[in-house]
Amino acid sequence: MEKIRVVEARKREAIGREAVVEGWVRTRRDSKAGFSFIEINDGSSLGNLQVIADKQLPNYDEQIKTLSVGSSVRVAGTIQESPAKGQATELHATAVELIGDADPASYPLQKKRHSFEFLRTIAHLRPRTNTFGAVARVRNALCRAIHEFFQQEGFLYIHTPIITASDCEGAGEMFRVTTLDPCKTTAAGQGTEDTTPAERAARDFFGRPTYLTVSGQLEAEVYATSLGKVYTFGPTFRAENSNTSRHLAEFWMVEPEMAFFELDDNMELAERFIKHLVREVLASCEEDMQFFNLRIDSSLLETLEQVAEADFQRLSYSEAVEVLERSGEKFEFPIAWGRDLQSEHERYLTEKHFGRPVVLYDYPATIKPFYMRLNDDGRTVRAMDVLVPRVGEIIGGSQREERYDVLLERMQQQGLNPGDYWWYLDLRRYGTVPHSGFGLGLERMVQFVTGMANIRDVIPFPRTPGSAEF
Ligand code: ATP
Ligand code: MN
Repeated sequence: MEKIRVVEARKREAIGREAVVEGWVRTRRDSKAGFSFIEINDGSSLGNLQVIADKQLPNYDEQIKTLSVGSSVRVAGTIQESPAKGQATELHATAVELIGDADPASYPLQKKRHSFEFLRTIAHLRPRTNTFGAVARVRNALCRAIHEFFQQEGFLYIHTPIITASDCEGAGEMFRVTTLDPCKTTAAGQGTEDTTPAERAARDFFGRPTYLTVSGQLEAEVYATSLGKVYTFGPTFRAENSNTSRHLAEFWMVEPEMAFFELDDNMELAERFIKHLVREVLASCEEDMQFFNLRIDSSLLETLEQVAEADFQRLSYSEAVEVLERSGEKFEFPIAWGRDLQSEHERYLTEKHFGRPVVLYDYPATIKPFYMRLNDDGRTVRAMDVLVPRVGEIIGGSQREERYDVLLERMQQQGLNPGDYWWYLDLRRYGTVPHSGFGLGLERMVQFVTGMANIRDVIPFPRTPGSAEF
């Protein structure tokens, strides 16, 4: 008999088929009429498949009637039309085989709903719940849509290194990568005392200090200024001690980088990109999205449908500061030109004032990294942030400084050693072009489309300060 997945077996077209379905028991109910209803789920959809197991089955009394939640089973039978509401089909079993049982005395996922906090302590079992199964499917759909978007637009997918020797802009605190034993202060076998960090670094694996990457941007610029349009998509690390619902120490970032792109082109691409992702998720994850709308945030679908259609609001940082100053809101952090916007300010703009995604651009040079292109006013740079309701900043990007002299001066102003960036400067010495790019945090995007409040619940195994259990 042919093996099919629950998602297929639940479709009306499957009626009449003989098939084998494998999965885990979600519920079991025994009817007085002499059969059991077993709901099984295999992760292929939110909905379960209802199995009807008759007492005539040879193992009915000793196995089927005692099947517990969480057990794995293989069921063979015929798919028939279901008389019950909310499902088109059901599987009438000719054989139910127990593969692995789950002791109800200790299996933590019984029927009742658990808090997300509790589920974080069992990250190895939480994907068996409706919510975490749905998050995993939506995350997958987003990743597919990300590749689909850039591939359709003619971008090349490139892989930037995870171990890096350059501190991208000081985007955040970095994790050091080393093979030196932190407990030993002397070189193994040499018996010599360390004297300076430089000597220690010279003895290290790469012969110099190395870190986990905080962004693939600088390396992506190398490929963009050779191949035109590229994107990198991979794990990114920040050791900043921000214990918030929007920060992880390890997250995934997608970073497109485009030659011959100015800031307006960059903003236009970012808006089209977000809209594509939202539409794709709405179209391909209908059942999961209904679930999030029902259980997590009842305004979710409405918000997303609006985001997919309406134009994003664009305004400069300076205009945003004026809006915030005039707002009459009591903010925890005072607002003034030249200060970085805090999450509360970002959310006021996108949620309350404009009620849609906002693209802010032209930030003060003093709060932005050296590589952002300096405007003619000499005090702002061609930076852009995309802000969305509930999440705040979801994208950060800029037009890059392509003028050798200006870049050099900005590096010196920010106390960076140009010698460390010789290859980056070379891109401006040989055939320089205007170019731009941005970074989208995958987990923030998953939060945005699912309504999940905490970023720890949209990545399978979250790493945050003080927590890396699984
Ligand atoms: P924030 O101000 O929210 O800390 P950032 O300005 O430091 O973010 P960027 O360096 O601009 O972030 O990174 C680009 C994008 O990567 C952000 O817009 C966000 O979506 C995502 N991102 C940045 N830091 C984190 C993090 N610690 N955890 C999850 N996503 C992150
Ligand atoms: Mn940013």
